[in-house]
Amino acid sequence: MKAVGLLSGGLDSMLAVKVLQEQGIEVIGVTFESPFFGSGRARRAARALRVPLRVVDITEELLEVVRRPKHGRGSGMNPCIDCHALMLRRAAEVMREEGAAFLFTGEVLGQRPFSQTRGTLRLVERESGQEGLVLRPLSAKLLPETLPERRGWVDRSRLPHLRGRGRKRQVGLAERYGIEEYPSPAGGCLLTDPAYARRLEDLLEHQEEVKRRDLEVLKVGRHLRISPRTKVVVGRNARENEEILRWEEKGDLVMEAEAYPGPTCLIPGGGNERDWEQAAAICLRYSDAPKDRPGRVLCHGRWEGTVETSALPPEECEPLLI
Ligand code: SF4
Repeated sequence: MKAVGLLSGGLDSMLAVKVLQEQGIEVIGVTFESPFFGSGRARRAARALRVPLRVVDITEELLEVVRRPKHGRGSGMNPCIDCHALMLRRAAEVMREEGAAFLFTGEVLGQRPFSQTRGTLRLVERESGQEGLVLRPLSAKLLPETLPERRGWVDRSRLPHLRGRGRKRQVGLAERYGIEEYPSPAGGCLLTDPAYARRLEDLLEHQEEVKRRDLEVLKVGRHLRISPRTKVVVGRNARENEEILRWEEKGDLVMEAEAYPGPTCLIPGGGNERDWEQAAAICLRYSDAPKDRPGRVLCHGRWEGTVETSALPPEECEPLLI
């Protein structure tokens, strides 16, 4: 009997694997990648558990549900119900490809106030089209019987019945299974990060076609919107300046203050000429150039040349920050 488990790399997902392995079930892990979260934790967990792992990139579909979530968002831009349903749908594809019989997750009933209630677990399952096929081994005894239990592929009586936010029983189980290293339960999804969420919301508001690069750039520097079509990304230190250059694409405009240390500024898509003077003024504002006289800003990329202007005063700059 083979099953596909959603492996986040957190302790609960690792325990779910162990609980099923104990019943002789062969486990294949699946995890997901996007610019909003990576697969590093899951890869480490899979290595520690010695289970094969399939890594699936869900950027495109996830972006679509971030734009138009059917079931709303959490505190940031995180459409958790739709996202979980999407993950289960993609995991079901892996299940079919691998000839596995069912899916499982490490979810624990009541551990998270909204996403892990009975109603939400059921809703996610229904939305994913996998009703009855998703076992939550750690809380199975508290949830309706699933197909794998009814068919006797999994012995329900031997499954734990964890509930709530406490971690004591999980830590006890980890000891029993010899799991020594596991990450803290905090998630790593940028869609829940207030600063990232604000920038993403701004991007989606102003740009219909969004590429992976646009989502990556949101992680770097200060972002200032100077017109509906133009924003300026300003590096805050040498590392960010370098990273900004790494993301430069054809058609972008890059600015740097002439003769003074300061930020590398990127205008994705190049903006339009009317905005360049303001962008150059922003570049001078964050540079070491003297603020009491005009300075020069070098431009390259979409346009090669120099803009001469004065640094934008802080009180005019702050309101532009996204
Ligand atoms: S926190 Fe992020 S990765 Fe997790 S379900 Fe919500 S949107 Fe998806």
